[in-house]
Amino acid sequence: MSNYEPVIGLEIHIQLKTKSKLFCASPNSFNVESPNTNICEICTGQPGTLPRLNAEALRKAIMVGLALNCETAKITKFDRKNYFYPDLPKGYQISQFDMPINGKGKVMVGNREIGITRAHLEEDAGKLLHELPGSDLKSSQRSDPRMTYVDFNRAGVPLLEVVTEPDFKSPEEAGLFLRQLRSIVRYLDASMADMEKGHLRVDANVSVRKIGETKLPDYKVEVKNMNSFKAVEAALSYEIERQTELLEKGEKPIDETRGFVDHTKTTVSQRTKEAAHDYRYFPEPDLPPIAITDDFIQELRIALPELPQAKAKRFIKEYDLPESDVWQIVDDKSFANYFENVASELGAWFEADNISVEKYKKSLKSLANWLTGDFLAMLNRDGKTANESGLSPENFAELIKLIEQGVISNTAGKSVLTEMYATGGDPSDIVDRQNLGQVSDEGLIEGVIDKVLAANQEVVEKYKAGKTGVLGALVGEVMKQTDGRANPQLVNEILKTKLD
Ligand SMILES: [Zn+2]
Repeated sequence: MSNYEPVIGLEIHIQLKTKSKLFCASPNSFNVESPNTNICEICTGQPGTLPRLNAEALRKAIMVGLALNCETAKITKFDRKNYFYPDLPKGYQISQFDMPINGKGKVMVGNREIGITRAHLEEDAGKLLHELPGSDLKSSQRSDPRMTYVDFNRAGVPLLEVVTEPDFKSPEEAGLFLRQLRSIVRYLDASMADMEKGHLRVDANVSVRKIGETKLPDYKVEVKNMNSFKAVEAALSYEIERQTELLEKGEKPIDETRGFVDHTKTTVSQRTKEAAHDYRYFPEPDLPPIAITDDFIQELRIALPELPQAKAKRFIKEYDLPESDVWQIVDDKSFANYFENVASELGAWFEADNISVEKYKKSLKSLANWLTGDFLAMLNRDGKTANESGLSPENFAELIKLIEQGVISNTAGKSVLTEMYATGGDPSDIVDRQNLGQVSDEGLIEGVIDKVLAANQEVVEKYKAGKTGVLGALVGEVMKQTDGRANPQLVNEILKTKLD
């Protein structure tokens, strides 16, 4: 075991979902094919133009802050962060320096509290391209080694930068927080939060210290270029190992920015931090400070939906489900709603038929398994939500009912679900049409069992010699012979009677 532990902090840029950009009326959709189409005088920084703050961006920024238990500023202001880069037409970025919209906050990640330092608003920069977009172009027309192109469609897009305290103690914990954060901003409809599309960009600060040490290490490495949560975890794991090795040799890792290389799962040095940037922040003179009233904050607080963590707690209590299933269900709001719709159908049926609470709970567990297993895999494969699948909650509930009543086996359930997903059909119809109903005819099952026993004398001898574990193999053979349609419970019972 290593004597060292990591100290990890995260900075996440979240692209807010608004109709227009942060300070002008240009559309906020930078992933369009034609460059420099969603632009105007303001976001291209032309002289004499004035920025105007997007109220929707401010609202969403505060709501995310409230969800992260941040203190909302009473007065907030914008500042100019000065630097030169070709994708920054004004020569400065409008950001927030000392009076961010959201101050300190905290969230629970697993059973540990993680501090939020701040979450402030800022505008995004444009993009440099080394190849022209446009599907109508031939590849020889797309790029020219002498040229770099600039696209300002992204310039001025609203970002919320969330900065955490260096509170994470493992890559997995950082990954868990990021998944939680993504879920929260999606619940709030504050962002699409698709990492691959650049809606969510993560930078990580990581250093390593001796276990028991309470001071922060006197160096810090920043890691960039990670485009998935898995990549963040891999980059952090690699860094922890690399830095620990250096420290064990008595060397100190240097302050630097490193980039993650996806195919090797390693990081490489991009630049050292010897020349610290001086951005010469000063208050943005074209935007007055904003006073946020208590009434406004209260109004937004009331508008907050039930958030993933609260929903998870309620599901565990109300539906008596294991925590791991619950997190998978509540991660996406519409998926959680779908679960509740099916659960309520099941509830109505159990009530009408006066079936015991135990059986109801068992059917909920089965529902959770089917939803988070086969169904979720199909949705992910096709990039669909549960509602878009065309599979109604009524029909899903009926499928669970057929399985739980023993009308069809689990194996048959899989093919019924596949068919329902493909055609939106009714499960009972599918069972009839495909002749999938479970066989509970004892005579028929006995016949198959006799054949299986005759053909597997060796296994039977083993069983009789006390190796009762081989029973499973015999059950499996019977199921195979009946195309998975024999009632497994009956098969077990009859087999045992015959063998004992
Ligand atoms: Zn504009």
